[in-house]
Amino acid sequence: MKKRILIGFIAIILAFSITAALLSAAVVQSVAREQLLEQLTLESGQIARRLAGKDPVSTLQQGWSTSRVSLIAPDGGVLYDSWTDQPLENHVDRPEIALALQEGFGSAVRYSDTAKSMAIYAATRLPDGTILRVAAPERVARGIAQGVAPYMVFGLVLIVILSIFFVNFLVDKLVKPLLTIDLDHPEDAVVYDEVLPLIRRIDQQNKHNRQQLLSLEARRVELNTLLDGMHEGFIALGEKEEIILLNPAACAMLGISQQEALGRSLVEVNRSPAILAVLEALRSQGTARGELEKDGRVYQLLANSIAGRPGAILLLSDQTYKMAGEAMRKRFTANVSHELRTPLTNISGYAELLDKGMVQEGDKGNFYALIHRESSRMLTLIEDILRLSRLDEGYAGGSRAKVNLHEQARAACQTMELSADEKEVTLHYEGEDAPVLGDATLLYELCANLVDNAIKYNVTGGSVTVRVSNGAQPVLTVADTGIGIAPEHQPQVFERFYRIDKSRSKQTGGTGLGLSIVKHAAEYHRARLSLHSQPGKGTTITVAFPPYREPA
Ligand code: ADP
Repeated sequence: MKKRILIGFIAIILAFSITAALLSAAVVQSVAREQLLEQLTLESGQIARRLAGKDPVSTLQQGWSTSRVSLIAPDGGVLYDSWTDQPLENHVDRPEIALALQEGFGSAVRYSDTAKSMAIYAATRLPDGTILRVAAPERVARGIAQGVAPYMVFGLVLIVILSIFFVNFLVDKLVKPLLTIDLDHPEDAVVYDEVLPLIRRIDQQNKHNRQQLLSLEARRVELNTLLDGMHEGFIALGEKEEIILLNPAACAMLGISQQEALGRSLVEVNRSPAILAVLEALRSQGTARGELEKDGRVYQLLANSIAGRPGAILLLSDQTYKMAGEAMRKRFTANVSHELRTPLTNISGYAELLDKGMVQEGDKGNFYALIHRESSRMLTLIEDILRLSRLDEGYAGGSRAKVNLHEQARAACQTMELSADEKEVTLHYEGEDAPVLGDATLLYELCANLVDNAIKYNVTGGSVTVRVSNGAQPVLTVADTGIGIAPEHQPQVFERFYRIDKSRSKQTGGTGLGLSIVKHAAEYHRARLSLHSQPGKGTTITVAFPPYREPA
């Protein structure tokens, strides 16, 4: 702004100064002409006096004047001219001559045909009627003006320089208060009255901007809270498919930080065929679906372009558990069918043999016993499956009451005494009252399954010790001196249908679901399950329940 004001001022000063200089030059020249004319008039008076009583032509011919001197007869004929001997044309129509003939004196500034330049003439009528004319070239007057010119130029330059300094100083003074206005607090500025309306406008605008910023910030925080809390990955793409927004869930899914991702194109961040296909479909149809596999997880991709403007929104949802759940259900169904088919095939086979009379009378009893054993196995299996599926659904209908774990464990041991005797395994029980918040039937099944396994996977002459203690919390411990579980199998034994030695499990009537039921029953009671086992030495399984608290 300062520069523009300076340039404007300097241009005006220059224009005024040049105009003034030109006018002054014209005035000086006109004054010089006046002076020259005055001189010529004086000179013509002096010459006239000298000529009095003498022969004018011969007197003039003595040549004592530097000016051009002419003597013109009253009829206009040129009697003498100091600048030429050539005869000259009649001068009666020359303006200065005509005036002098009429009024006694005449002057003119005009082009001289004789001198071929502008000249100044002063003509005086002599007493004898002849006209004495004295002339000088007009450049003499111009020379006087030119003599003044350097002073004028000097004056002009001085004026311009002084003006620049002055204008600079003035502009600085004018602009300084404007430049020092604190735009955040314009109301504090000390400025001229003329600027006050502008200051007020800035102040109002500032307040408006602050309000806008606050509401924008509030919306940004709201949006971020929403996006940060989402389990789904959210990605907003710009016009060139560059990432303009992505939430922490999307960062975790793509394995990239926000700083790394923002501004980069999605393809650059993830080059997987799923992403390429989704982007391709998005471009052609405006909407797309896909499935992205990354680091062992499966994500469903949903993409939609934004209506009315370039860009798109991408949602990623983790489908890993859903897929794993589905796979688990499929495996479970296959396992159940397989497990049921074996006893059913056996029953069907035995019944067919009996039906066709192919069994001897003496063996029939054995066949009936076999059919009974297989159908009992089937029944146990079906009961276990039903129990597990109830547990899968949160054991709906199960109670949460005060149950004495000691009583349930003791009852389970009592039920198992016979099978322990058959296996020649000693079963010890020791316990104390241990109240647990839970379901009595489920706690009994948990105990029974653990004691059953401890007997089944024991050795002849081995022992099982069942203990219920209630120190800091109720704890059930089932320890056996059986075959033990190798470390590589330990993490899997709680899975459905997992059996280390299939034939042994089947021989002993195992379904492969016992420890699964134990795991779910422990989860139902929020109990912690731990297993310590050494092959050939035995297994100890501990279930630690949360301390019982009377319901408020
Ligand atoms: P099963 O019906 O076959 O007993 P479980 O789910 O109860 O099924 O147990 C899974 C597998 O864990 C068993 O097949 C067995 O190999 C092993 N197992 C369970 N308890 C014991 C134990 N106390 N000692 C040794 N192995 C055991």
